[in-house]
Amino acid sequence: MHKPILFLCAPLVAGAALAQFPPPDDATPFVSVPAPVFVLDHVRVIDGTGAPARDDQAIVVAQGRIGFVGPAASAPVPAGAQRMDLHGYTVIPGLVGMHNHLYYTDSAAVQSAGGSIGEPGLFVAEIPYTAPRLYLAAGVTTMRTTGSLEPYTDLKVKNRIDAGKMPGPDIDATAPYLEGAPTLFAQMHELTGPDDAVRLVDYWAAEGMTSYKAYMNITRDELGAAIRAAHAHHLRLTGHLCSVTWPEAIALGIDDFEHGPVFTDSEFVADKKPDVCPARLSASWMKQEIAGPQVQALIQNLVSHHVAVTSTLPVFESSVPGRPRLEQRTLDAMSAESAQSYLTLRARVPLDSPVGALMRKEMDFEVAFAKAAGLLLAGPDPTGNGGVLPGFGDQREIELLVEAGFTPEQAIQIGTQNGAVFLGRQDRIGTIEAGKQADMVLIKGDPSKKIDEIENVETVFKNGVGYDSKKLIESVRGQVGIR
Ligand SMILES: [Zn+2]
Repeated sequence: MHKPILFLCAPLVAGAALAQFPPPDDATPFVSVPAPVFVLDHVRVIDGTGAPARDDQAIVVAQGRIGFVGPAASAPVPAGAQRMDLHGYTVIPGLVGMHNHLYYTDSAAVQSAGGSIGEPGLFVAEIPYTAPRLYLAAGVTTMRTTGSLEPYTDLKVKNRIDAGKMPGPDIDATAPYLEGAPTLFAQMHELTGPDDAVRLVDYWAAEGMTSYKAYMNITRDELGAAIRAAHAHHLRLTGHLCSVTWPEAIALGIDDFEHGPVFTDSEFVADKKPDVCPARLSASWMKQEIAGPQVQALIQNLVSHHVAVTSTLPVFESSVPGRPRLEQRTLDAMSAESAQSYLTLRARVPLDSPVGALMRKEMDFEVAFAKAAGLLLAGPDPTGNGGVLPGFGDQREIELLVEAGFTPEQAIQIGTQNGAVFLGRQDRIGTIEAGKQADMVLIKGDPSKKIDEIENVETVFKNGVGYDSKKLIESVRGQVGIR
């Protein structure tokens, strides 16, 4: 009897052998610059401090660290270094993405086809394979997940990347959303009170999460308790709020606000009930002038309490009629179902949608906030109608910051140094300076003149190891939304 069983099992075993587990080191095939000592020669440098681009520079890297940045003519080139002549190229610091989920709205068109989302709520796909690859390919070397729907998957992705087993950015893993009732999402827990909030904050800190995010239906009591518990762990809490106003959350000690105020701060809603997320929040902002006393008071309140704001312009842009320009690389990366869902929802954007005007107001707020010395962070938020992809969305965010009114160098600073400052890692990452970790993005062209050339990434250096951007993107073709 043994023989037939063996015979039957053999093809399965052979299949299992083809799909080995655990897999071999999955990051190696994408490494294009493995040399421990190398020089990026005659390259343009945008260093992430907001300073103007500098031409004809050299960057010397040894053992994962930047040893020298300065004029190419005076570069100390170590013996045996790999030397790359990079006329026509630009180097920027690795992006620090601050709203970079490991999940994606893959099928929102199907789920909303009946006019509303049915029970048990919106279900969103985790993309633990494609997202880290796309983030890294686009130049993201550090990121915060800013809300988890599959926490153990997120933690595993972080741990596999840390172990060098798969390609991807360094991850600040955010715990599952701290959300009240009624939530839109099938995968979210609904808090039952402040004790429940503290229980979850403590639990997820013990599991290895390193940040928190409060969500749209949390109460003031729950939020206050969660912030105190997070701070007791020396961890930070951000919020995409609605039920709690921004001034209420600032008074409770929040560290950061997601998306900016125009779509999330309910303080100007006339009949606002405490702890309830009101309808027509954005309409209340339409009447506000950014230069007016109420918004200026909010900016002063944020700045004086050292509360950051995370800009996520791409997710708003995807609800503006006709925007963004459809890119082939975006559709190529999506699974067939995801592409269909996105194109369906894109076609459903009403031509008279107010989101274009609201996004412009949000842009004006962000410029005013940064001018007032507020710490503005950047991230894509790959949700909404599915048009914003990991990585590509991080690049689009920088482009939209330029549309908002920042110089390309300032926009890159917001997407690099500012994130590093918020994470408390500014001594190691966020700028191109001697002594820092060699997290850098090599770009063909000159984004200081034409910001959309930031999409022409060739090599992404993380800790001094260069990854081939095109190979990473090719490796996820047709799979975003599936895995
Ligand atoms: Zn988000």
